[in-house]
Amino acid sequence: MSAANPVYTCLLLLLLLFSFSEATAQKVQFLTRSCKITEVEKGKIREMAVHEAAFFAEVFGPKKLMPLRIIIYGNRLEFYTVCMREKVALRRPQGFYSHRTRTMYVLKSDNLVRTCFHEMVHAIYHNYNNKVPTWLNEGIAECFERAHIDSTGKIQVMVNRSDCKKVINYLEKPEKAINSCLRKSGRRFYEYQAHKNYKISWAMAGFLYHNHKDILFKLMQETVTRRKSILLINEYYEGGTSRFAADVKNWCVQQAGAG
Ligand SMILES: [Zn+2]
Repeated sequence: MSAANPVYTCLLLLLLLFSFSEATAQKVQFLTRSCKITEVEKGKIREMAVHEAAFFAEVFGPKKLMPLRIIIYGNRLEFYTVCMREKVALRRPQGFYSHRTRTMYVLKSDNLVRTCFHEMVHAIYHNYNNKVPTWLNEGIAECFERAHIDSTGKIQVMVNRSDCKKVINYLEKPEKAINSCLRKSGRRFYEYQAHKNYKISWAMAGFLYHNHKDILFKLMQETVTRRKSILLINEYYEGGTSRFAADVKNWCVQQAGAG
């Protein structure tokens, strides 16, 4: 038996390394209409994209990543025209992801970077599962919208006290409010009391992310099978949706009073 040819071994290693970096480095493409985006903003968005892709890879396993395409609009009218064309249900959106074109459309604002953090979640999630329950899709996007990368390069998903205070008000009857949010999908989520639906979804996803990541992952994995969220929470969360609703509210009360 002859020893492995070092040239072939090197080539093979290079090929492996290349395909590995291709599969793991999430790329972002920026296009602008009537505006500019700075290199600093691009850098922050690209850095977050890598962390978000890593999060989804942890849940679903690694996958060949499609580049994320973001079109940024400086002109409000032009942006709203695209919203109408893509039939966006939400009133006055800052950005959205279109399944049809696999593109994110974002309005240039002071919140540009955070809006991109949010929309990228939808784009990456769609790559793994094209029928995600709305609360889970928006809840996770809202969590990453509030995230930042710390000085050690780790992602920190922040909890804002004012968000918690709003959720506490919305959860006067915790189980009723949470079950209703879990059931809403598509237009029903976006067209009626959207602000409330977003905040409650954020609280549910944030609570699970910070306290029961294993259950959050399980829900994300199981929804691929299109089973209803309420059934899944009853199965995976000890005490079912009533315990879950009470715990989400208690977590918000603790967080609102912390710091
Ligand atoms: Zn969203």
